Amino acid sequence: MEWFRSIPDETHHRAFLKDVLTLVLDEAVFKANRRGEPVIRWRLPQELLSLIDVQTRDQPASHEELLAAIKATIDFSVKTGHPMFINQLYSGLDPYGLAGQWVTDALNPSSYTYEVAPVFTTMEEAVLQNMRALLGYPDGRGDGIFCPGGSLANGCAMNLARFKAFPSVKTEGLHGLPRLVLFASEDAHYSIHKMAALEGLGEAAVRSVTCDSQGRMDLKALEAEIQVAKRDGVHPFMVVATAGTTVLGALDPLSAIADVCSTHGLWLHVDAAWGGGLLFSKEHRHLLAGIERADSVAWNPHKLLAVPQQCSTLLVRHEGLLKACHGRDATYLFQKDKFYDHNLDPGDKYIQCGRRVDVFKFWLMWKGKVCILK
Ligand SMILES: *Cc1c(COP(=O)(O)O)cnc(C)c1O
Repeated sequence: MEWFRSIPDETHHRAFLKDVLTLVLDEAVFKANRRGEPVIRWRLPQELLSLIDVQTRDQPASHEELLAAIKATIDFSVKTGHPMFINQLYSGLDPYGLAGQWVTDALNPSSYTYEVAPVFTTMEEAVLQNMRALLGYPDGRGDGIFCPGGSLANGCAMNLARFKAFPSVKTEGLHGLPRLVLFASEDAHYSIHKMAALEGLGEAAVRSVTCDSQGRMDLKALEAEIQVAKRDGVHPFMVVATAGTTVLGALDPLSAIADVCSTHGLWLHVDAAWGGGLLFSKEHRHLLAGIERADSVAWNPHKLLAVPQQCSTLLVRHEGLLKACHGRDATYLFQKDKFYDHNLDPGDKYIQCGRRVDVFKFWLMWKGKVCILK
């Protein structure tokens, strides 16, 4: 078997890409998302396999065959841009977002250093700062990263909170640390448990706080859980509040939880993966009052704001903490003697090395349609 690397042949490939673009515009963007069209042409797996040849072959397919395969792929995929697709908290097809995604994909950047992604790294900083300003951090100060999803954003917040309380965890791991616990409501997203397991805290480190009848974290129950933990001799370090619970869309009482956190010296993380979008609304942003006191906030613009998947962020109040916690100073990437201020290189704030650019589609939507009313 030989793997042929395509060197773009302008005439041949331009014709192919134009055909693909026409097909996508017709079948995936406009026609497919009309109300009369189905959200999905559902087929059971065996039937689907008879309609689409999912196997790769030993011989290259022709452009006609590839176009037919693309058409079938579109036909039998879920139309998430359809007005009737309201599943799992993301939906809609935004033309600016799609254009941004196309431009990003054509350039195929990786966003670790200024030199390899000069426009995008600068844009990321601008957008993250504007998001922090919307949160209510003074002058948008603080820090932030784009994340491969809200689950990972929550996990990073947990790691940062632990590092802030016990910086030795970066070099020594959990060895010598007291048993750590955090608090989240019973309706918090399941990623909190997942990340606690991943980070060596264990699922049992997540102390579940009961909710009121509206699905909001009950403050008395939170106080009681903190007392129980202290009595158990374990070390509370964090509260995860949710702004927009996954099932009910409930908003935990952020200001009151922030008071509890400052009384007990706990990191406040707000999981606003879903509800963060309310900050763009003059009418509804008051529902998130208190979020400006959070140490960190997870916010997925790909949910309420309908930015194409994936666009998730973690915003942090503490400057420099991301780099201190995640940094590794790899000398082949993050040299200190560049022609520009090496602090413009965002890469070492991140867990990932190579990283997709998720900012441009959001930036283009923000640029093209947002009207912020003061
Ligand atoms: C969707 C959601 C998450 C997870 O985000 P992903 O991007 O799907 O990983 C976390 N928390 C809340 C409240 C959510 O709604």
